[in-house]
Amino acid sequence: MARVSVLRPDLEAYARDLWPRGLVELAAGHARGPLPDAIVWPESIDEVSALVRLARREGIALVPFGAGSGVCGGVRGGARRVVVDTKRMSAWAIRPGPELDVGAGALGIQLEEALLERGYTIGHYPSSILCSTTGGWVAARGAGQCSGRYGKVEDMVTFVEAVLGTGEPVCFRRRTSGLDLAPLLVGSEGTLGVITRVGLRLHPAPTTRAYAAFAFDDFERGIEAVRLVFQEGLRPAVTRLYDPLDTLLFVHGEDAPRRIAKEPGPVGLRASALRAVLGAPAAVARALALAERTLLSRSALIVVHEGDARSVEREAHAVAAICRSAGGRALGEGPARAWFRRRYSVSYRQSPLFRGGAFSDTMEVAAPWARVPEVYRAVRRSLGEHVLVMAHLSHAYPDGSSLYFTFAGVEHGGRDAFAVYDDAWRAALAAAMSAGATLSHHHGVGRSKAPRLPAELGAGVAVIRALKAAWDPSGVLNPGALIPPPSDAERLEPPPPPREPFFDAVSGLVELPGDMTLGEARAWVEARGHVLPLSDAAKTDLAIDTWIARGMPGLPDRYADPVYTPLPGFHARLHDGRRIVVRPSPRRAVGPDLSALFVGTEGALGRIERAVLVVSRKDARGAEPLPWSGERNPPVGADERAAFAEVLRNLSPSAVPGSSPSDATSG
Ligand SMILES: Cc1cc2nc3c(=O)[nH]c(=O)nc-3n(C[C@H](O)[C@H](O)[C@H](O)COP(=O)(O)OP(=O)(O)OC[C@H]3O[C@@H](n4cnc5c(N)ncnc54)[C@H](O)[C@@H]3O)c2cc1C
Repeated sequence: MARVSVLRPDLEAYARDLWPRGLVELAAGHARGPLPDAIVWPESIDEVSALVRLARREGIALVPFGAGSGVCGGVRGGARRVVVDTKRMSAWAIRPGPELDVGAGALGIQLEEALLERGYTIGHYPSSILCSTTGGWVAARGAGQCSGRYGKVEDMVTFVEAVLGTGEPVCFRRRTSGLDLAPLLVGSEGTLGVITRVGLRLHPAPTTRAYAAFAFDDFERGIEAVRLVFQEGLRPAVTRLYDPLDTLLFVHGEDAPRRIAKEPGPVGLRASALRAVLGAPAAVARALALAERTLLSRSALIVVHEGDARSVEREAHAVAAICRSAGGRALGEGPARAWFRRRYSVSYRQSPLFRGGAFSDTMEVAAPWARVPEVYRAVRRSLGEHVLVMAHLSHAYPDGSSLYFTFAGVEHGGRDAFAVYDDAWRAALAAAMSAGATLSHHHGVGRSKAPRLPAELGAGVAVIRALKAAWDPSGVLNPGALIPPPSDAERLEPPPPPREPFFDAVSGLVELPGDMTLGEARAWVEARGHVLPLSDAAKTDLAIDTWIARGMPGLPDRYADPVYTPLPGFHARLHDGRRIVVRPSPRRAVGPDLSALFVGTEGALGRIERAVLVVSRKDARGAEPLPWSGERNPPVGADERAAFAEVLRNLSPSAVPGSSPSDATSG
């Protein structure tokens, strides 16, 4: 059977993902960019490798494609491009651990249902599970609805097999000490390699679920409750806190624009009602703010616990106690059960809006707890000038959480829908980032947020560009996605980091200088009523930078509590003198995880000048460990050594080959 197509319907269908701006374009009849030249369906890593080598020779761009459910323009491109659909690489097997070894093109829901029948779960349930692939999850660094227990996809990955842009096949295995290159491919959005297979940690399928819901007088009190839950060490699979408007609509089980669009009456009348609401966002925002002080002020939190009966009961009891003491009123099981029943349908509501000439979109960011309320206020304020906006918090960690904004708009004030859409995004991202959030928590960057990447990572963008030069020197893989054209922002030299330690008690974060010893750090943290989660394996006379270079030995097993974040932020100095700053965030989806260049790499590329670490209250109960007996430290393969040598050549050309960590950790 033909595994290449140049048929017009295929080219149209594969021309884009679900980035809503593309849908506004379609609805407005605007010319779209060029169509791809062909779609191909490789069946093996060898075929992908041959394809990449051919693309290099012929100067053709390749755009990896899972199911096209991305919402950031990750799947698009210019002339002379071929889309590589991975869906014919979908075979899977369960290995000891238990670990799932699965082709990148496996569709989420079919896979998860087959695993549940065998008594396992990956624990990754994105709302798009019906239309997304394992490779897409990993490439976009996604998050599932049950991240509170199982973490994000980067916490689940055990290996990533891929064909780099050189045509070389590689398999990067995760390691708890030593070279760990997999986090550089996770989140690379098709720009460094075509992922062909991934390993995912499996859990026993839950035998019990419990549901609860609480009402808080306002969103910020709800935020406080969720923070206390996660800092206590409790890990409910689902915690979703809705702001007052989202609560109102969530309780009604529908979203407002759709409800307006569904009201009985002539279509024209419904459309004008919708446009009237969306066309006066600032006035609506003022009315809502007033209503929130009077009628609408409740925020609903829904919680789903899962696991075995004993731990579910204990966890539900403890979470309820915290919610009550934080001012929450129990609402019974109903709202959480209702959400669970329609957990995959809530996001598929765009058509009526687009048909009515309007648009909707979502923006998800993340920040440490201390900044979450201000991020919420700032983004809502700035978006509210342009569009109707509501928000919820759906992924929490001990050190912070995501915030998910849903907004809808229409052309108004003399601006067409594109102008309103673009102005809304620009204002929202600027507000989020200046309030201390990261650009994305789980949707990724794609082409929609690429121009903003330097504002988040500064010189870190140049580092990603160096990774690209190492692993995709001809630039054939998904050009235009994730990595923006070079700009001055990435050449700005950040100042040297402060020397003084810093304690963010709300987020449970400490910022410590790299030359402080672990013993000093431990004492400093303990003097503030908190503890660094270090076992006896941690040598207290080691300086923090050396400890990180050696792979942070003595931290809790990452598989025991996938929600714990080992290094949420850092300042590092490369050997060539460049500084990069990754500001703290519990998780992010802004390309490769740059901490992998420093953790366990024996200082080959540079050193950590200041590290951000998560601490916990002395009296916190701590997380109940999730058992897993898979391989923690597989030997470093020749492919990994060679791939790291290329990175060294591009980022630290003067490094002596014999001193690379791959030599130190091989065997
Ligand atoms: C209704 C709806 C709900 C959503 N809910 C969630 C959610 O809850 N959580 C979440 O994280 N996301 C969500 N998303 C976003 C999207 O589904 C995720 O980003 C998903 O992981 C994309 O998977 P995909 O297979 O469709 O990838 P695609 O959209 O095909 O690709 C996404 C990006 O990854 C690259 N890519 C895909 N496959 C590979 C591969 N094998 N190798 C290299 N690069 C590759 C592409 O080039 C592109 O840059 C939602 C989207 C929609 C439309």
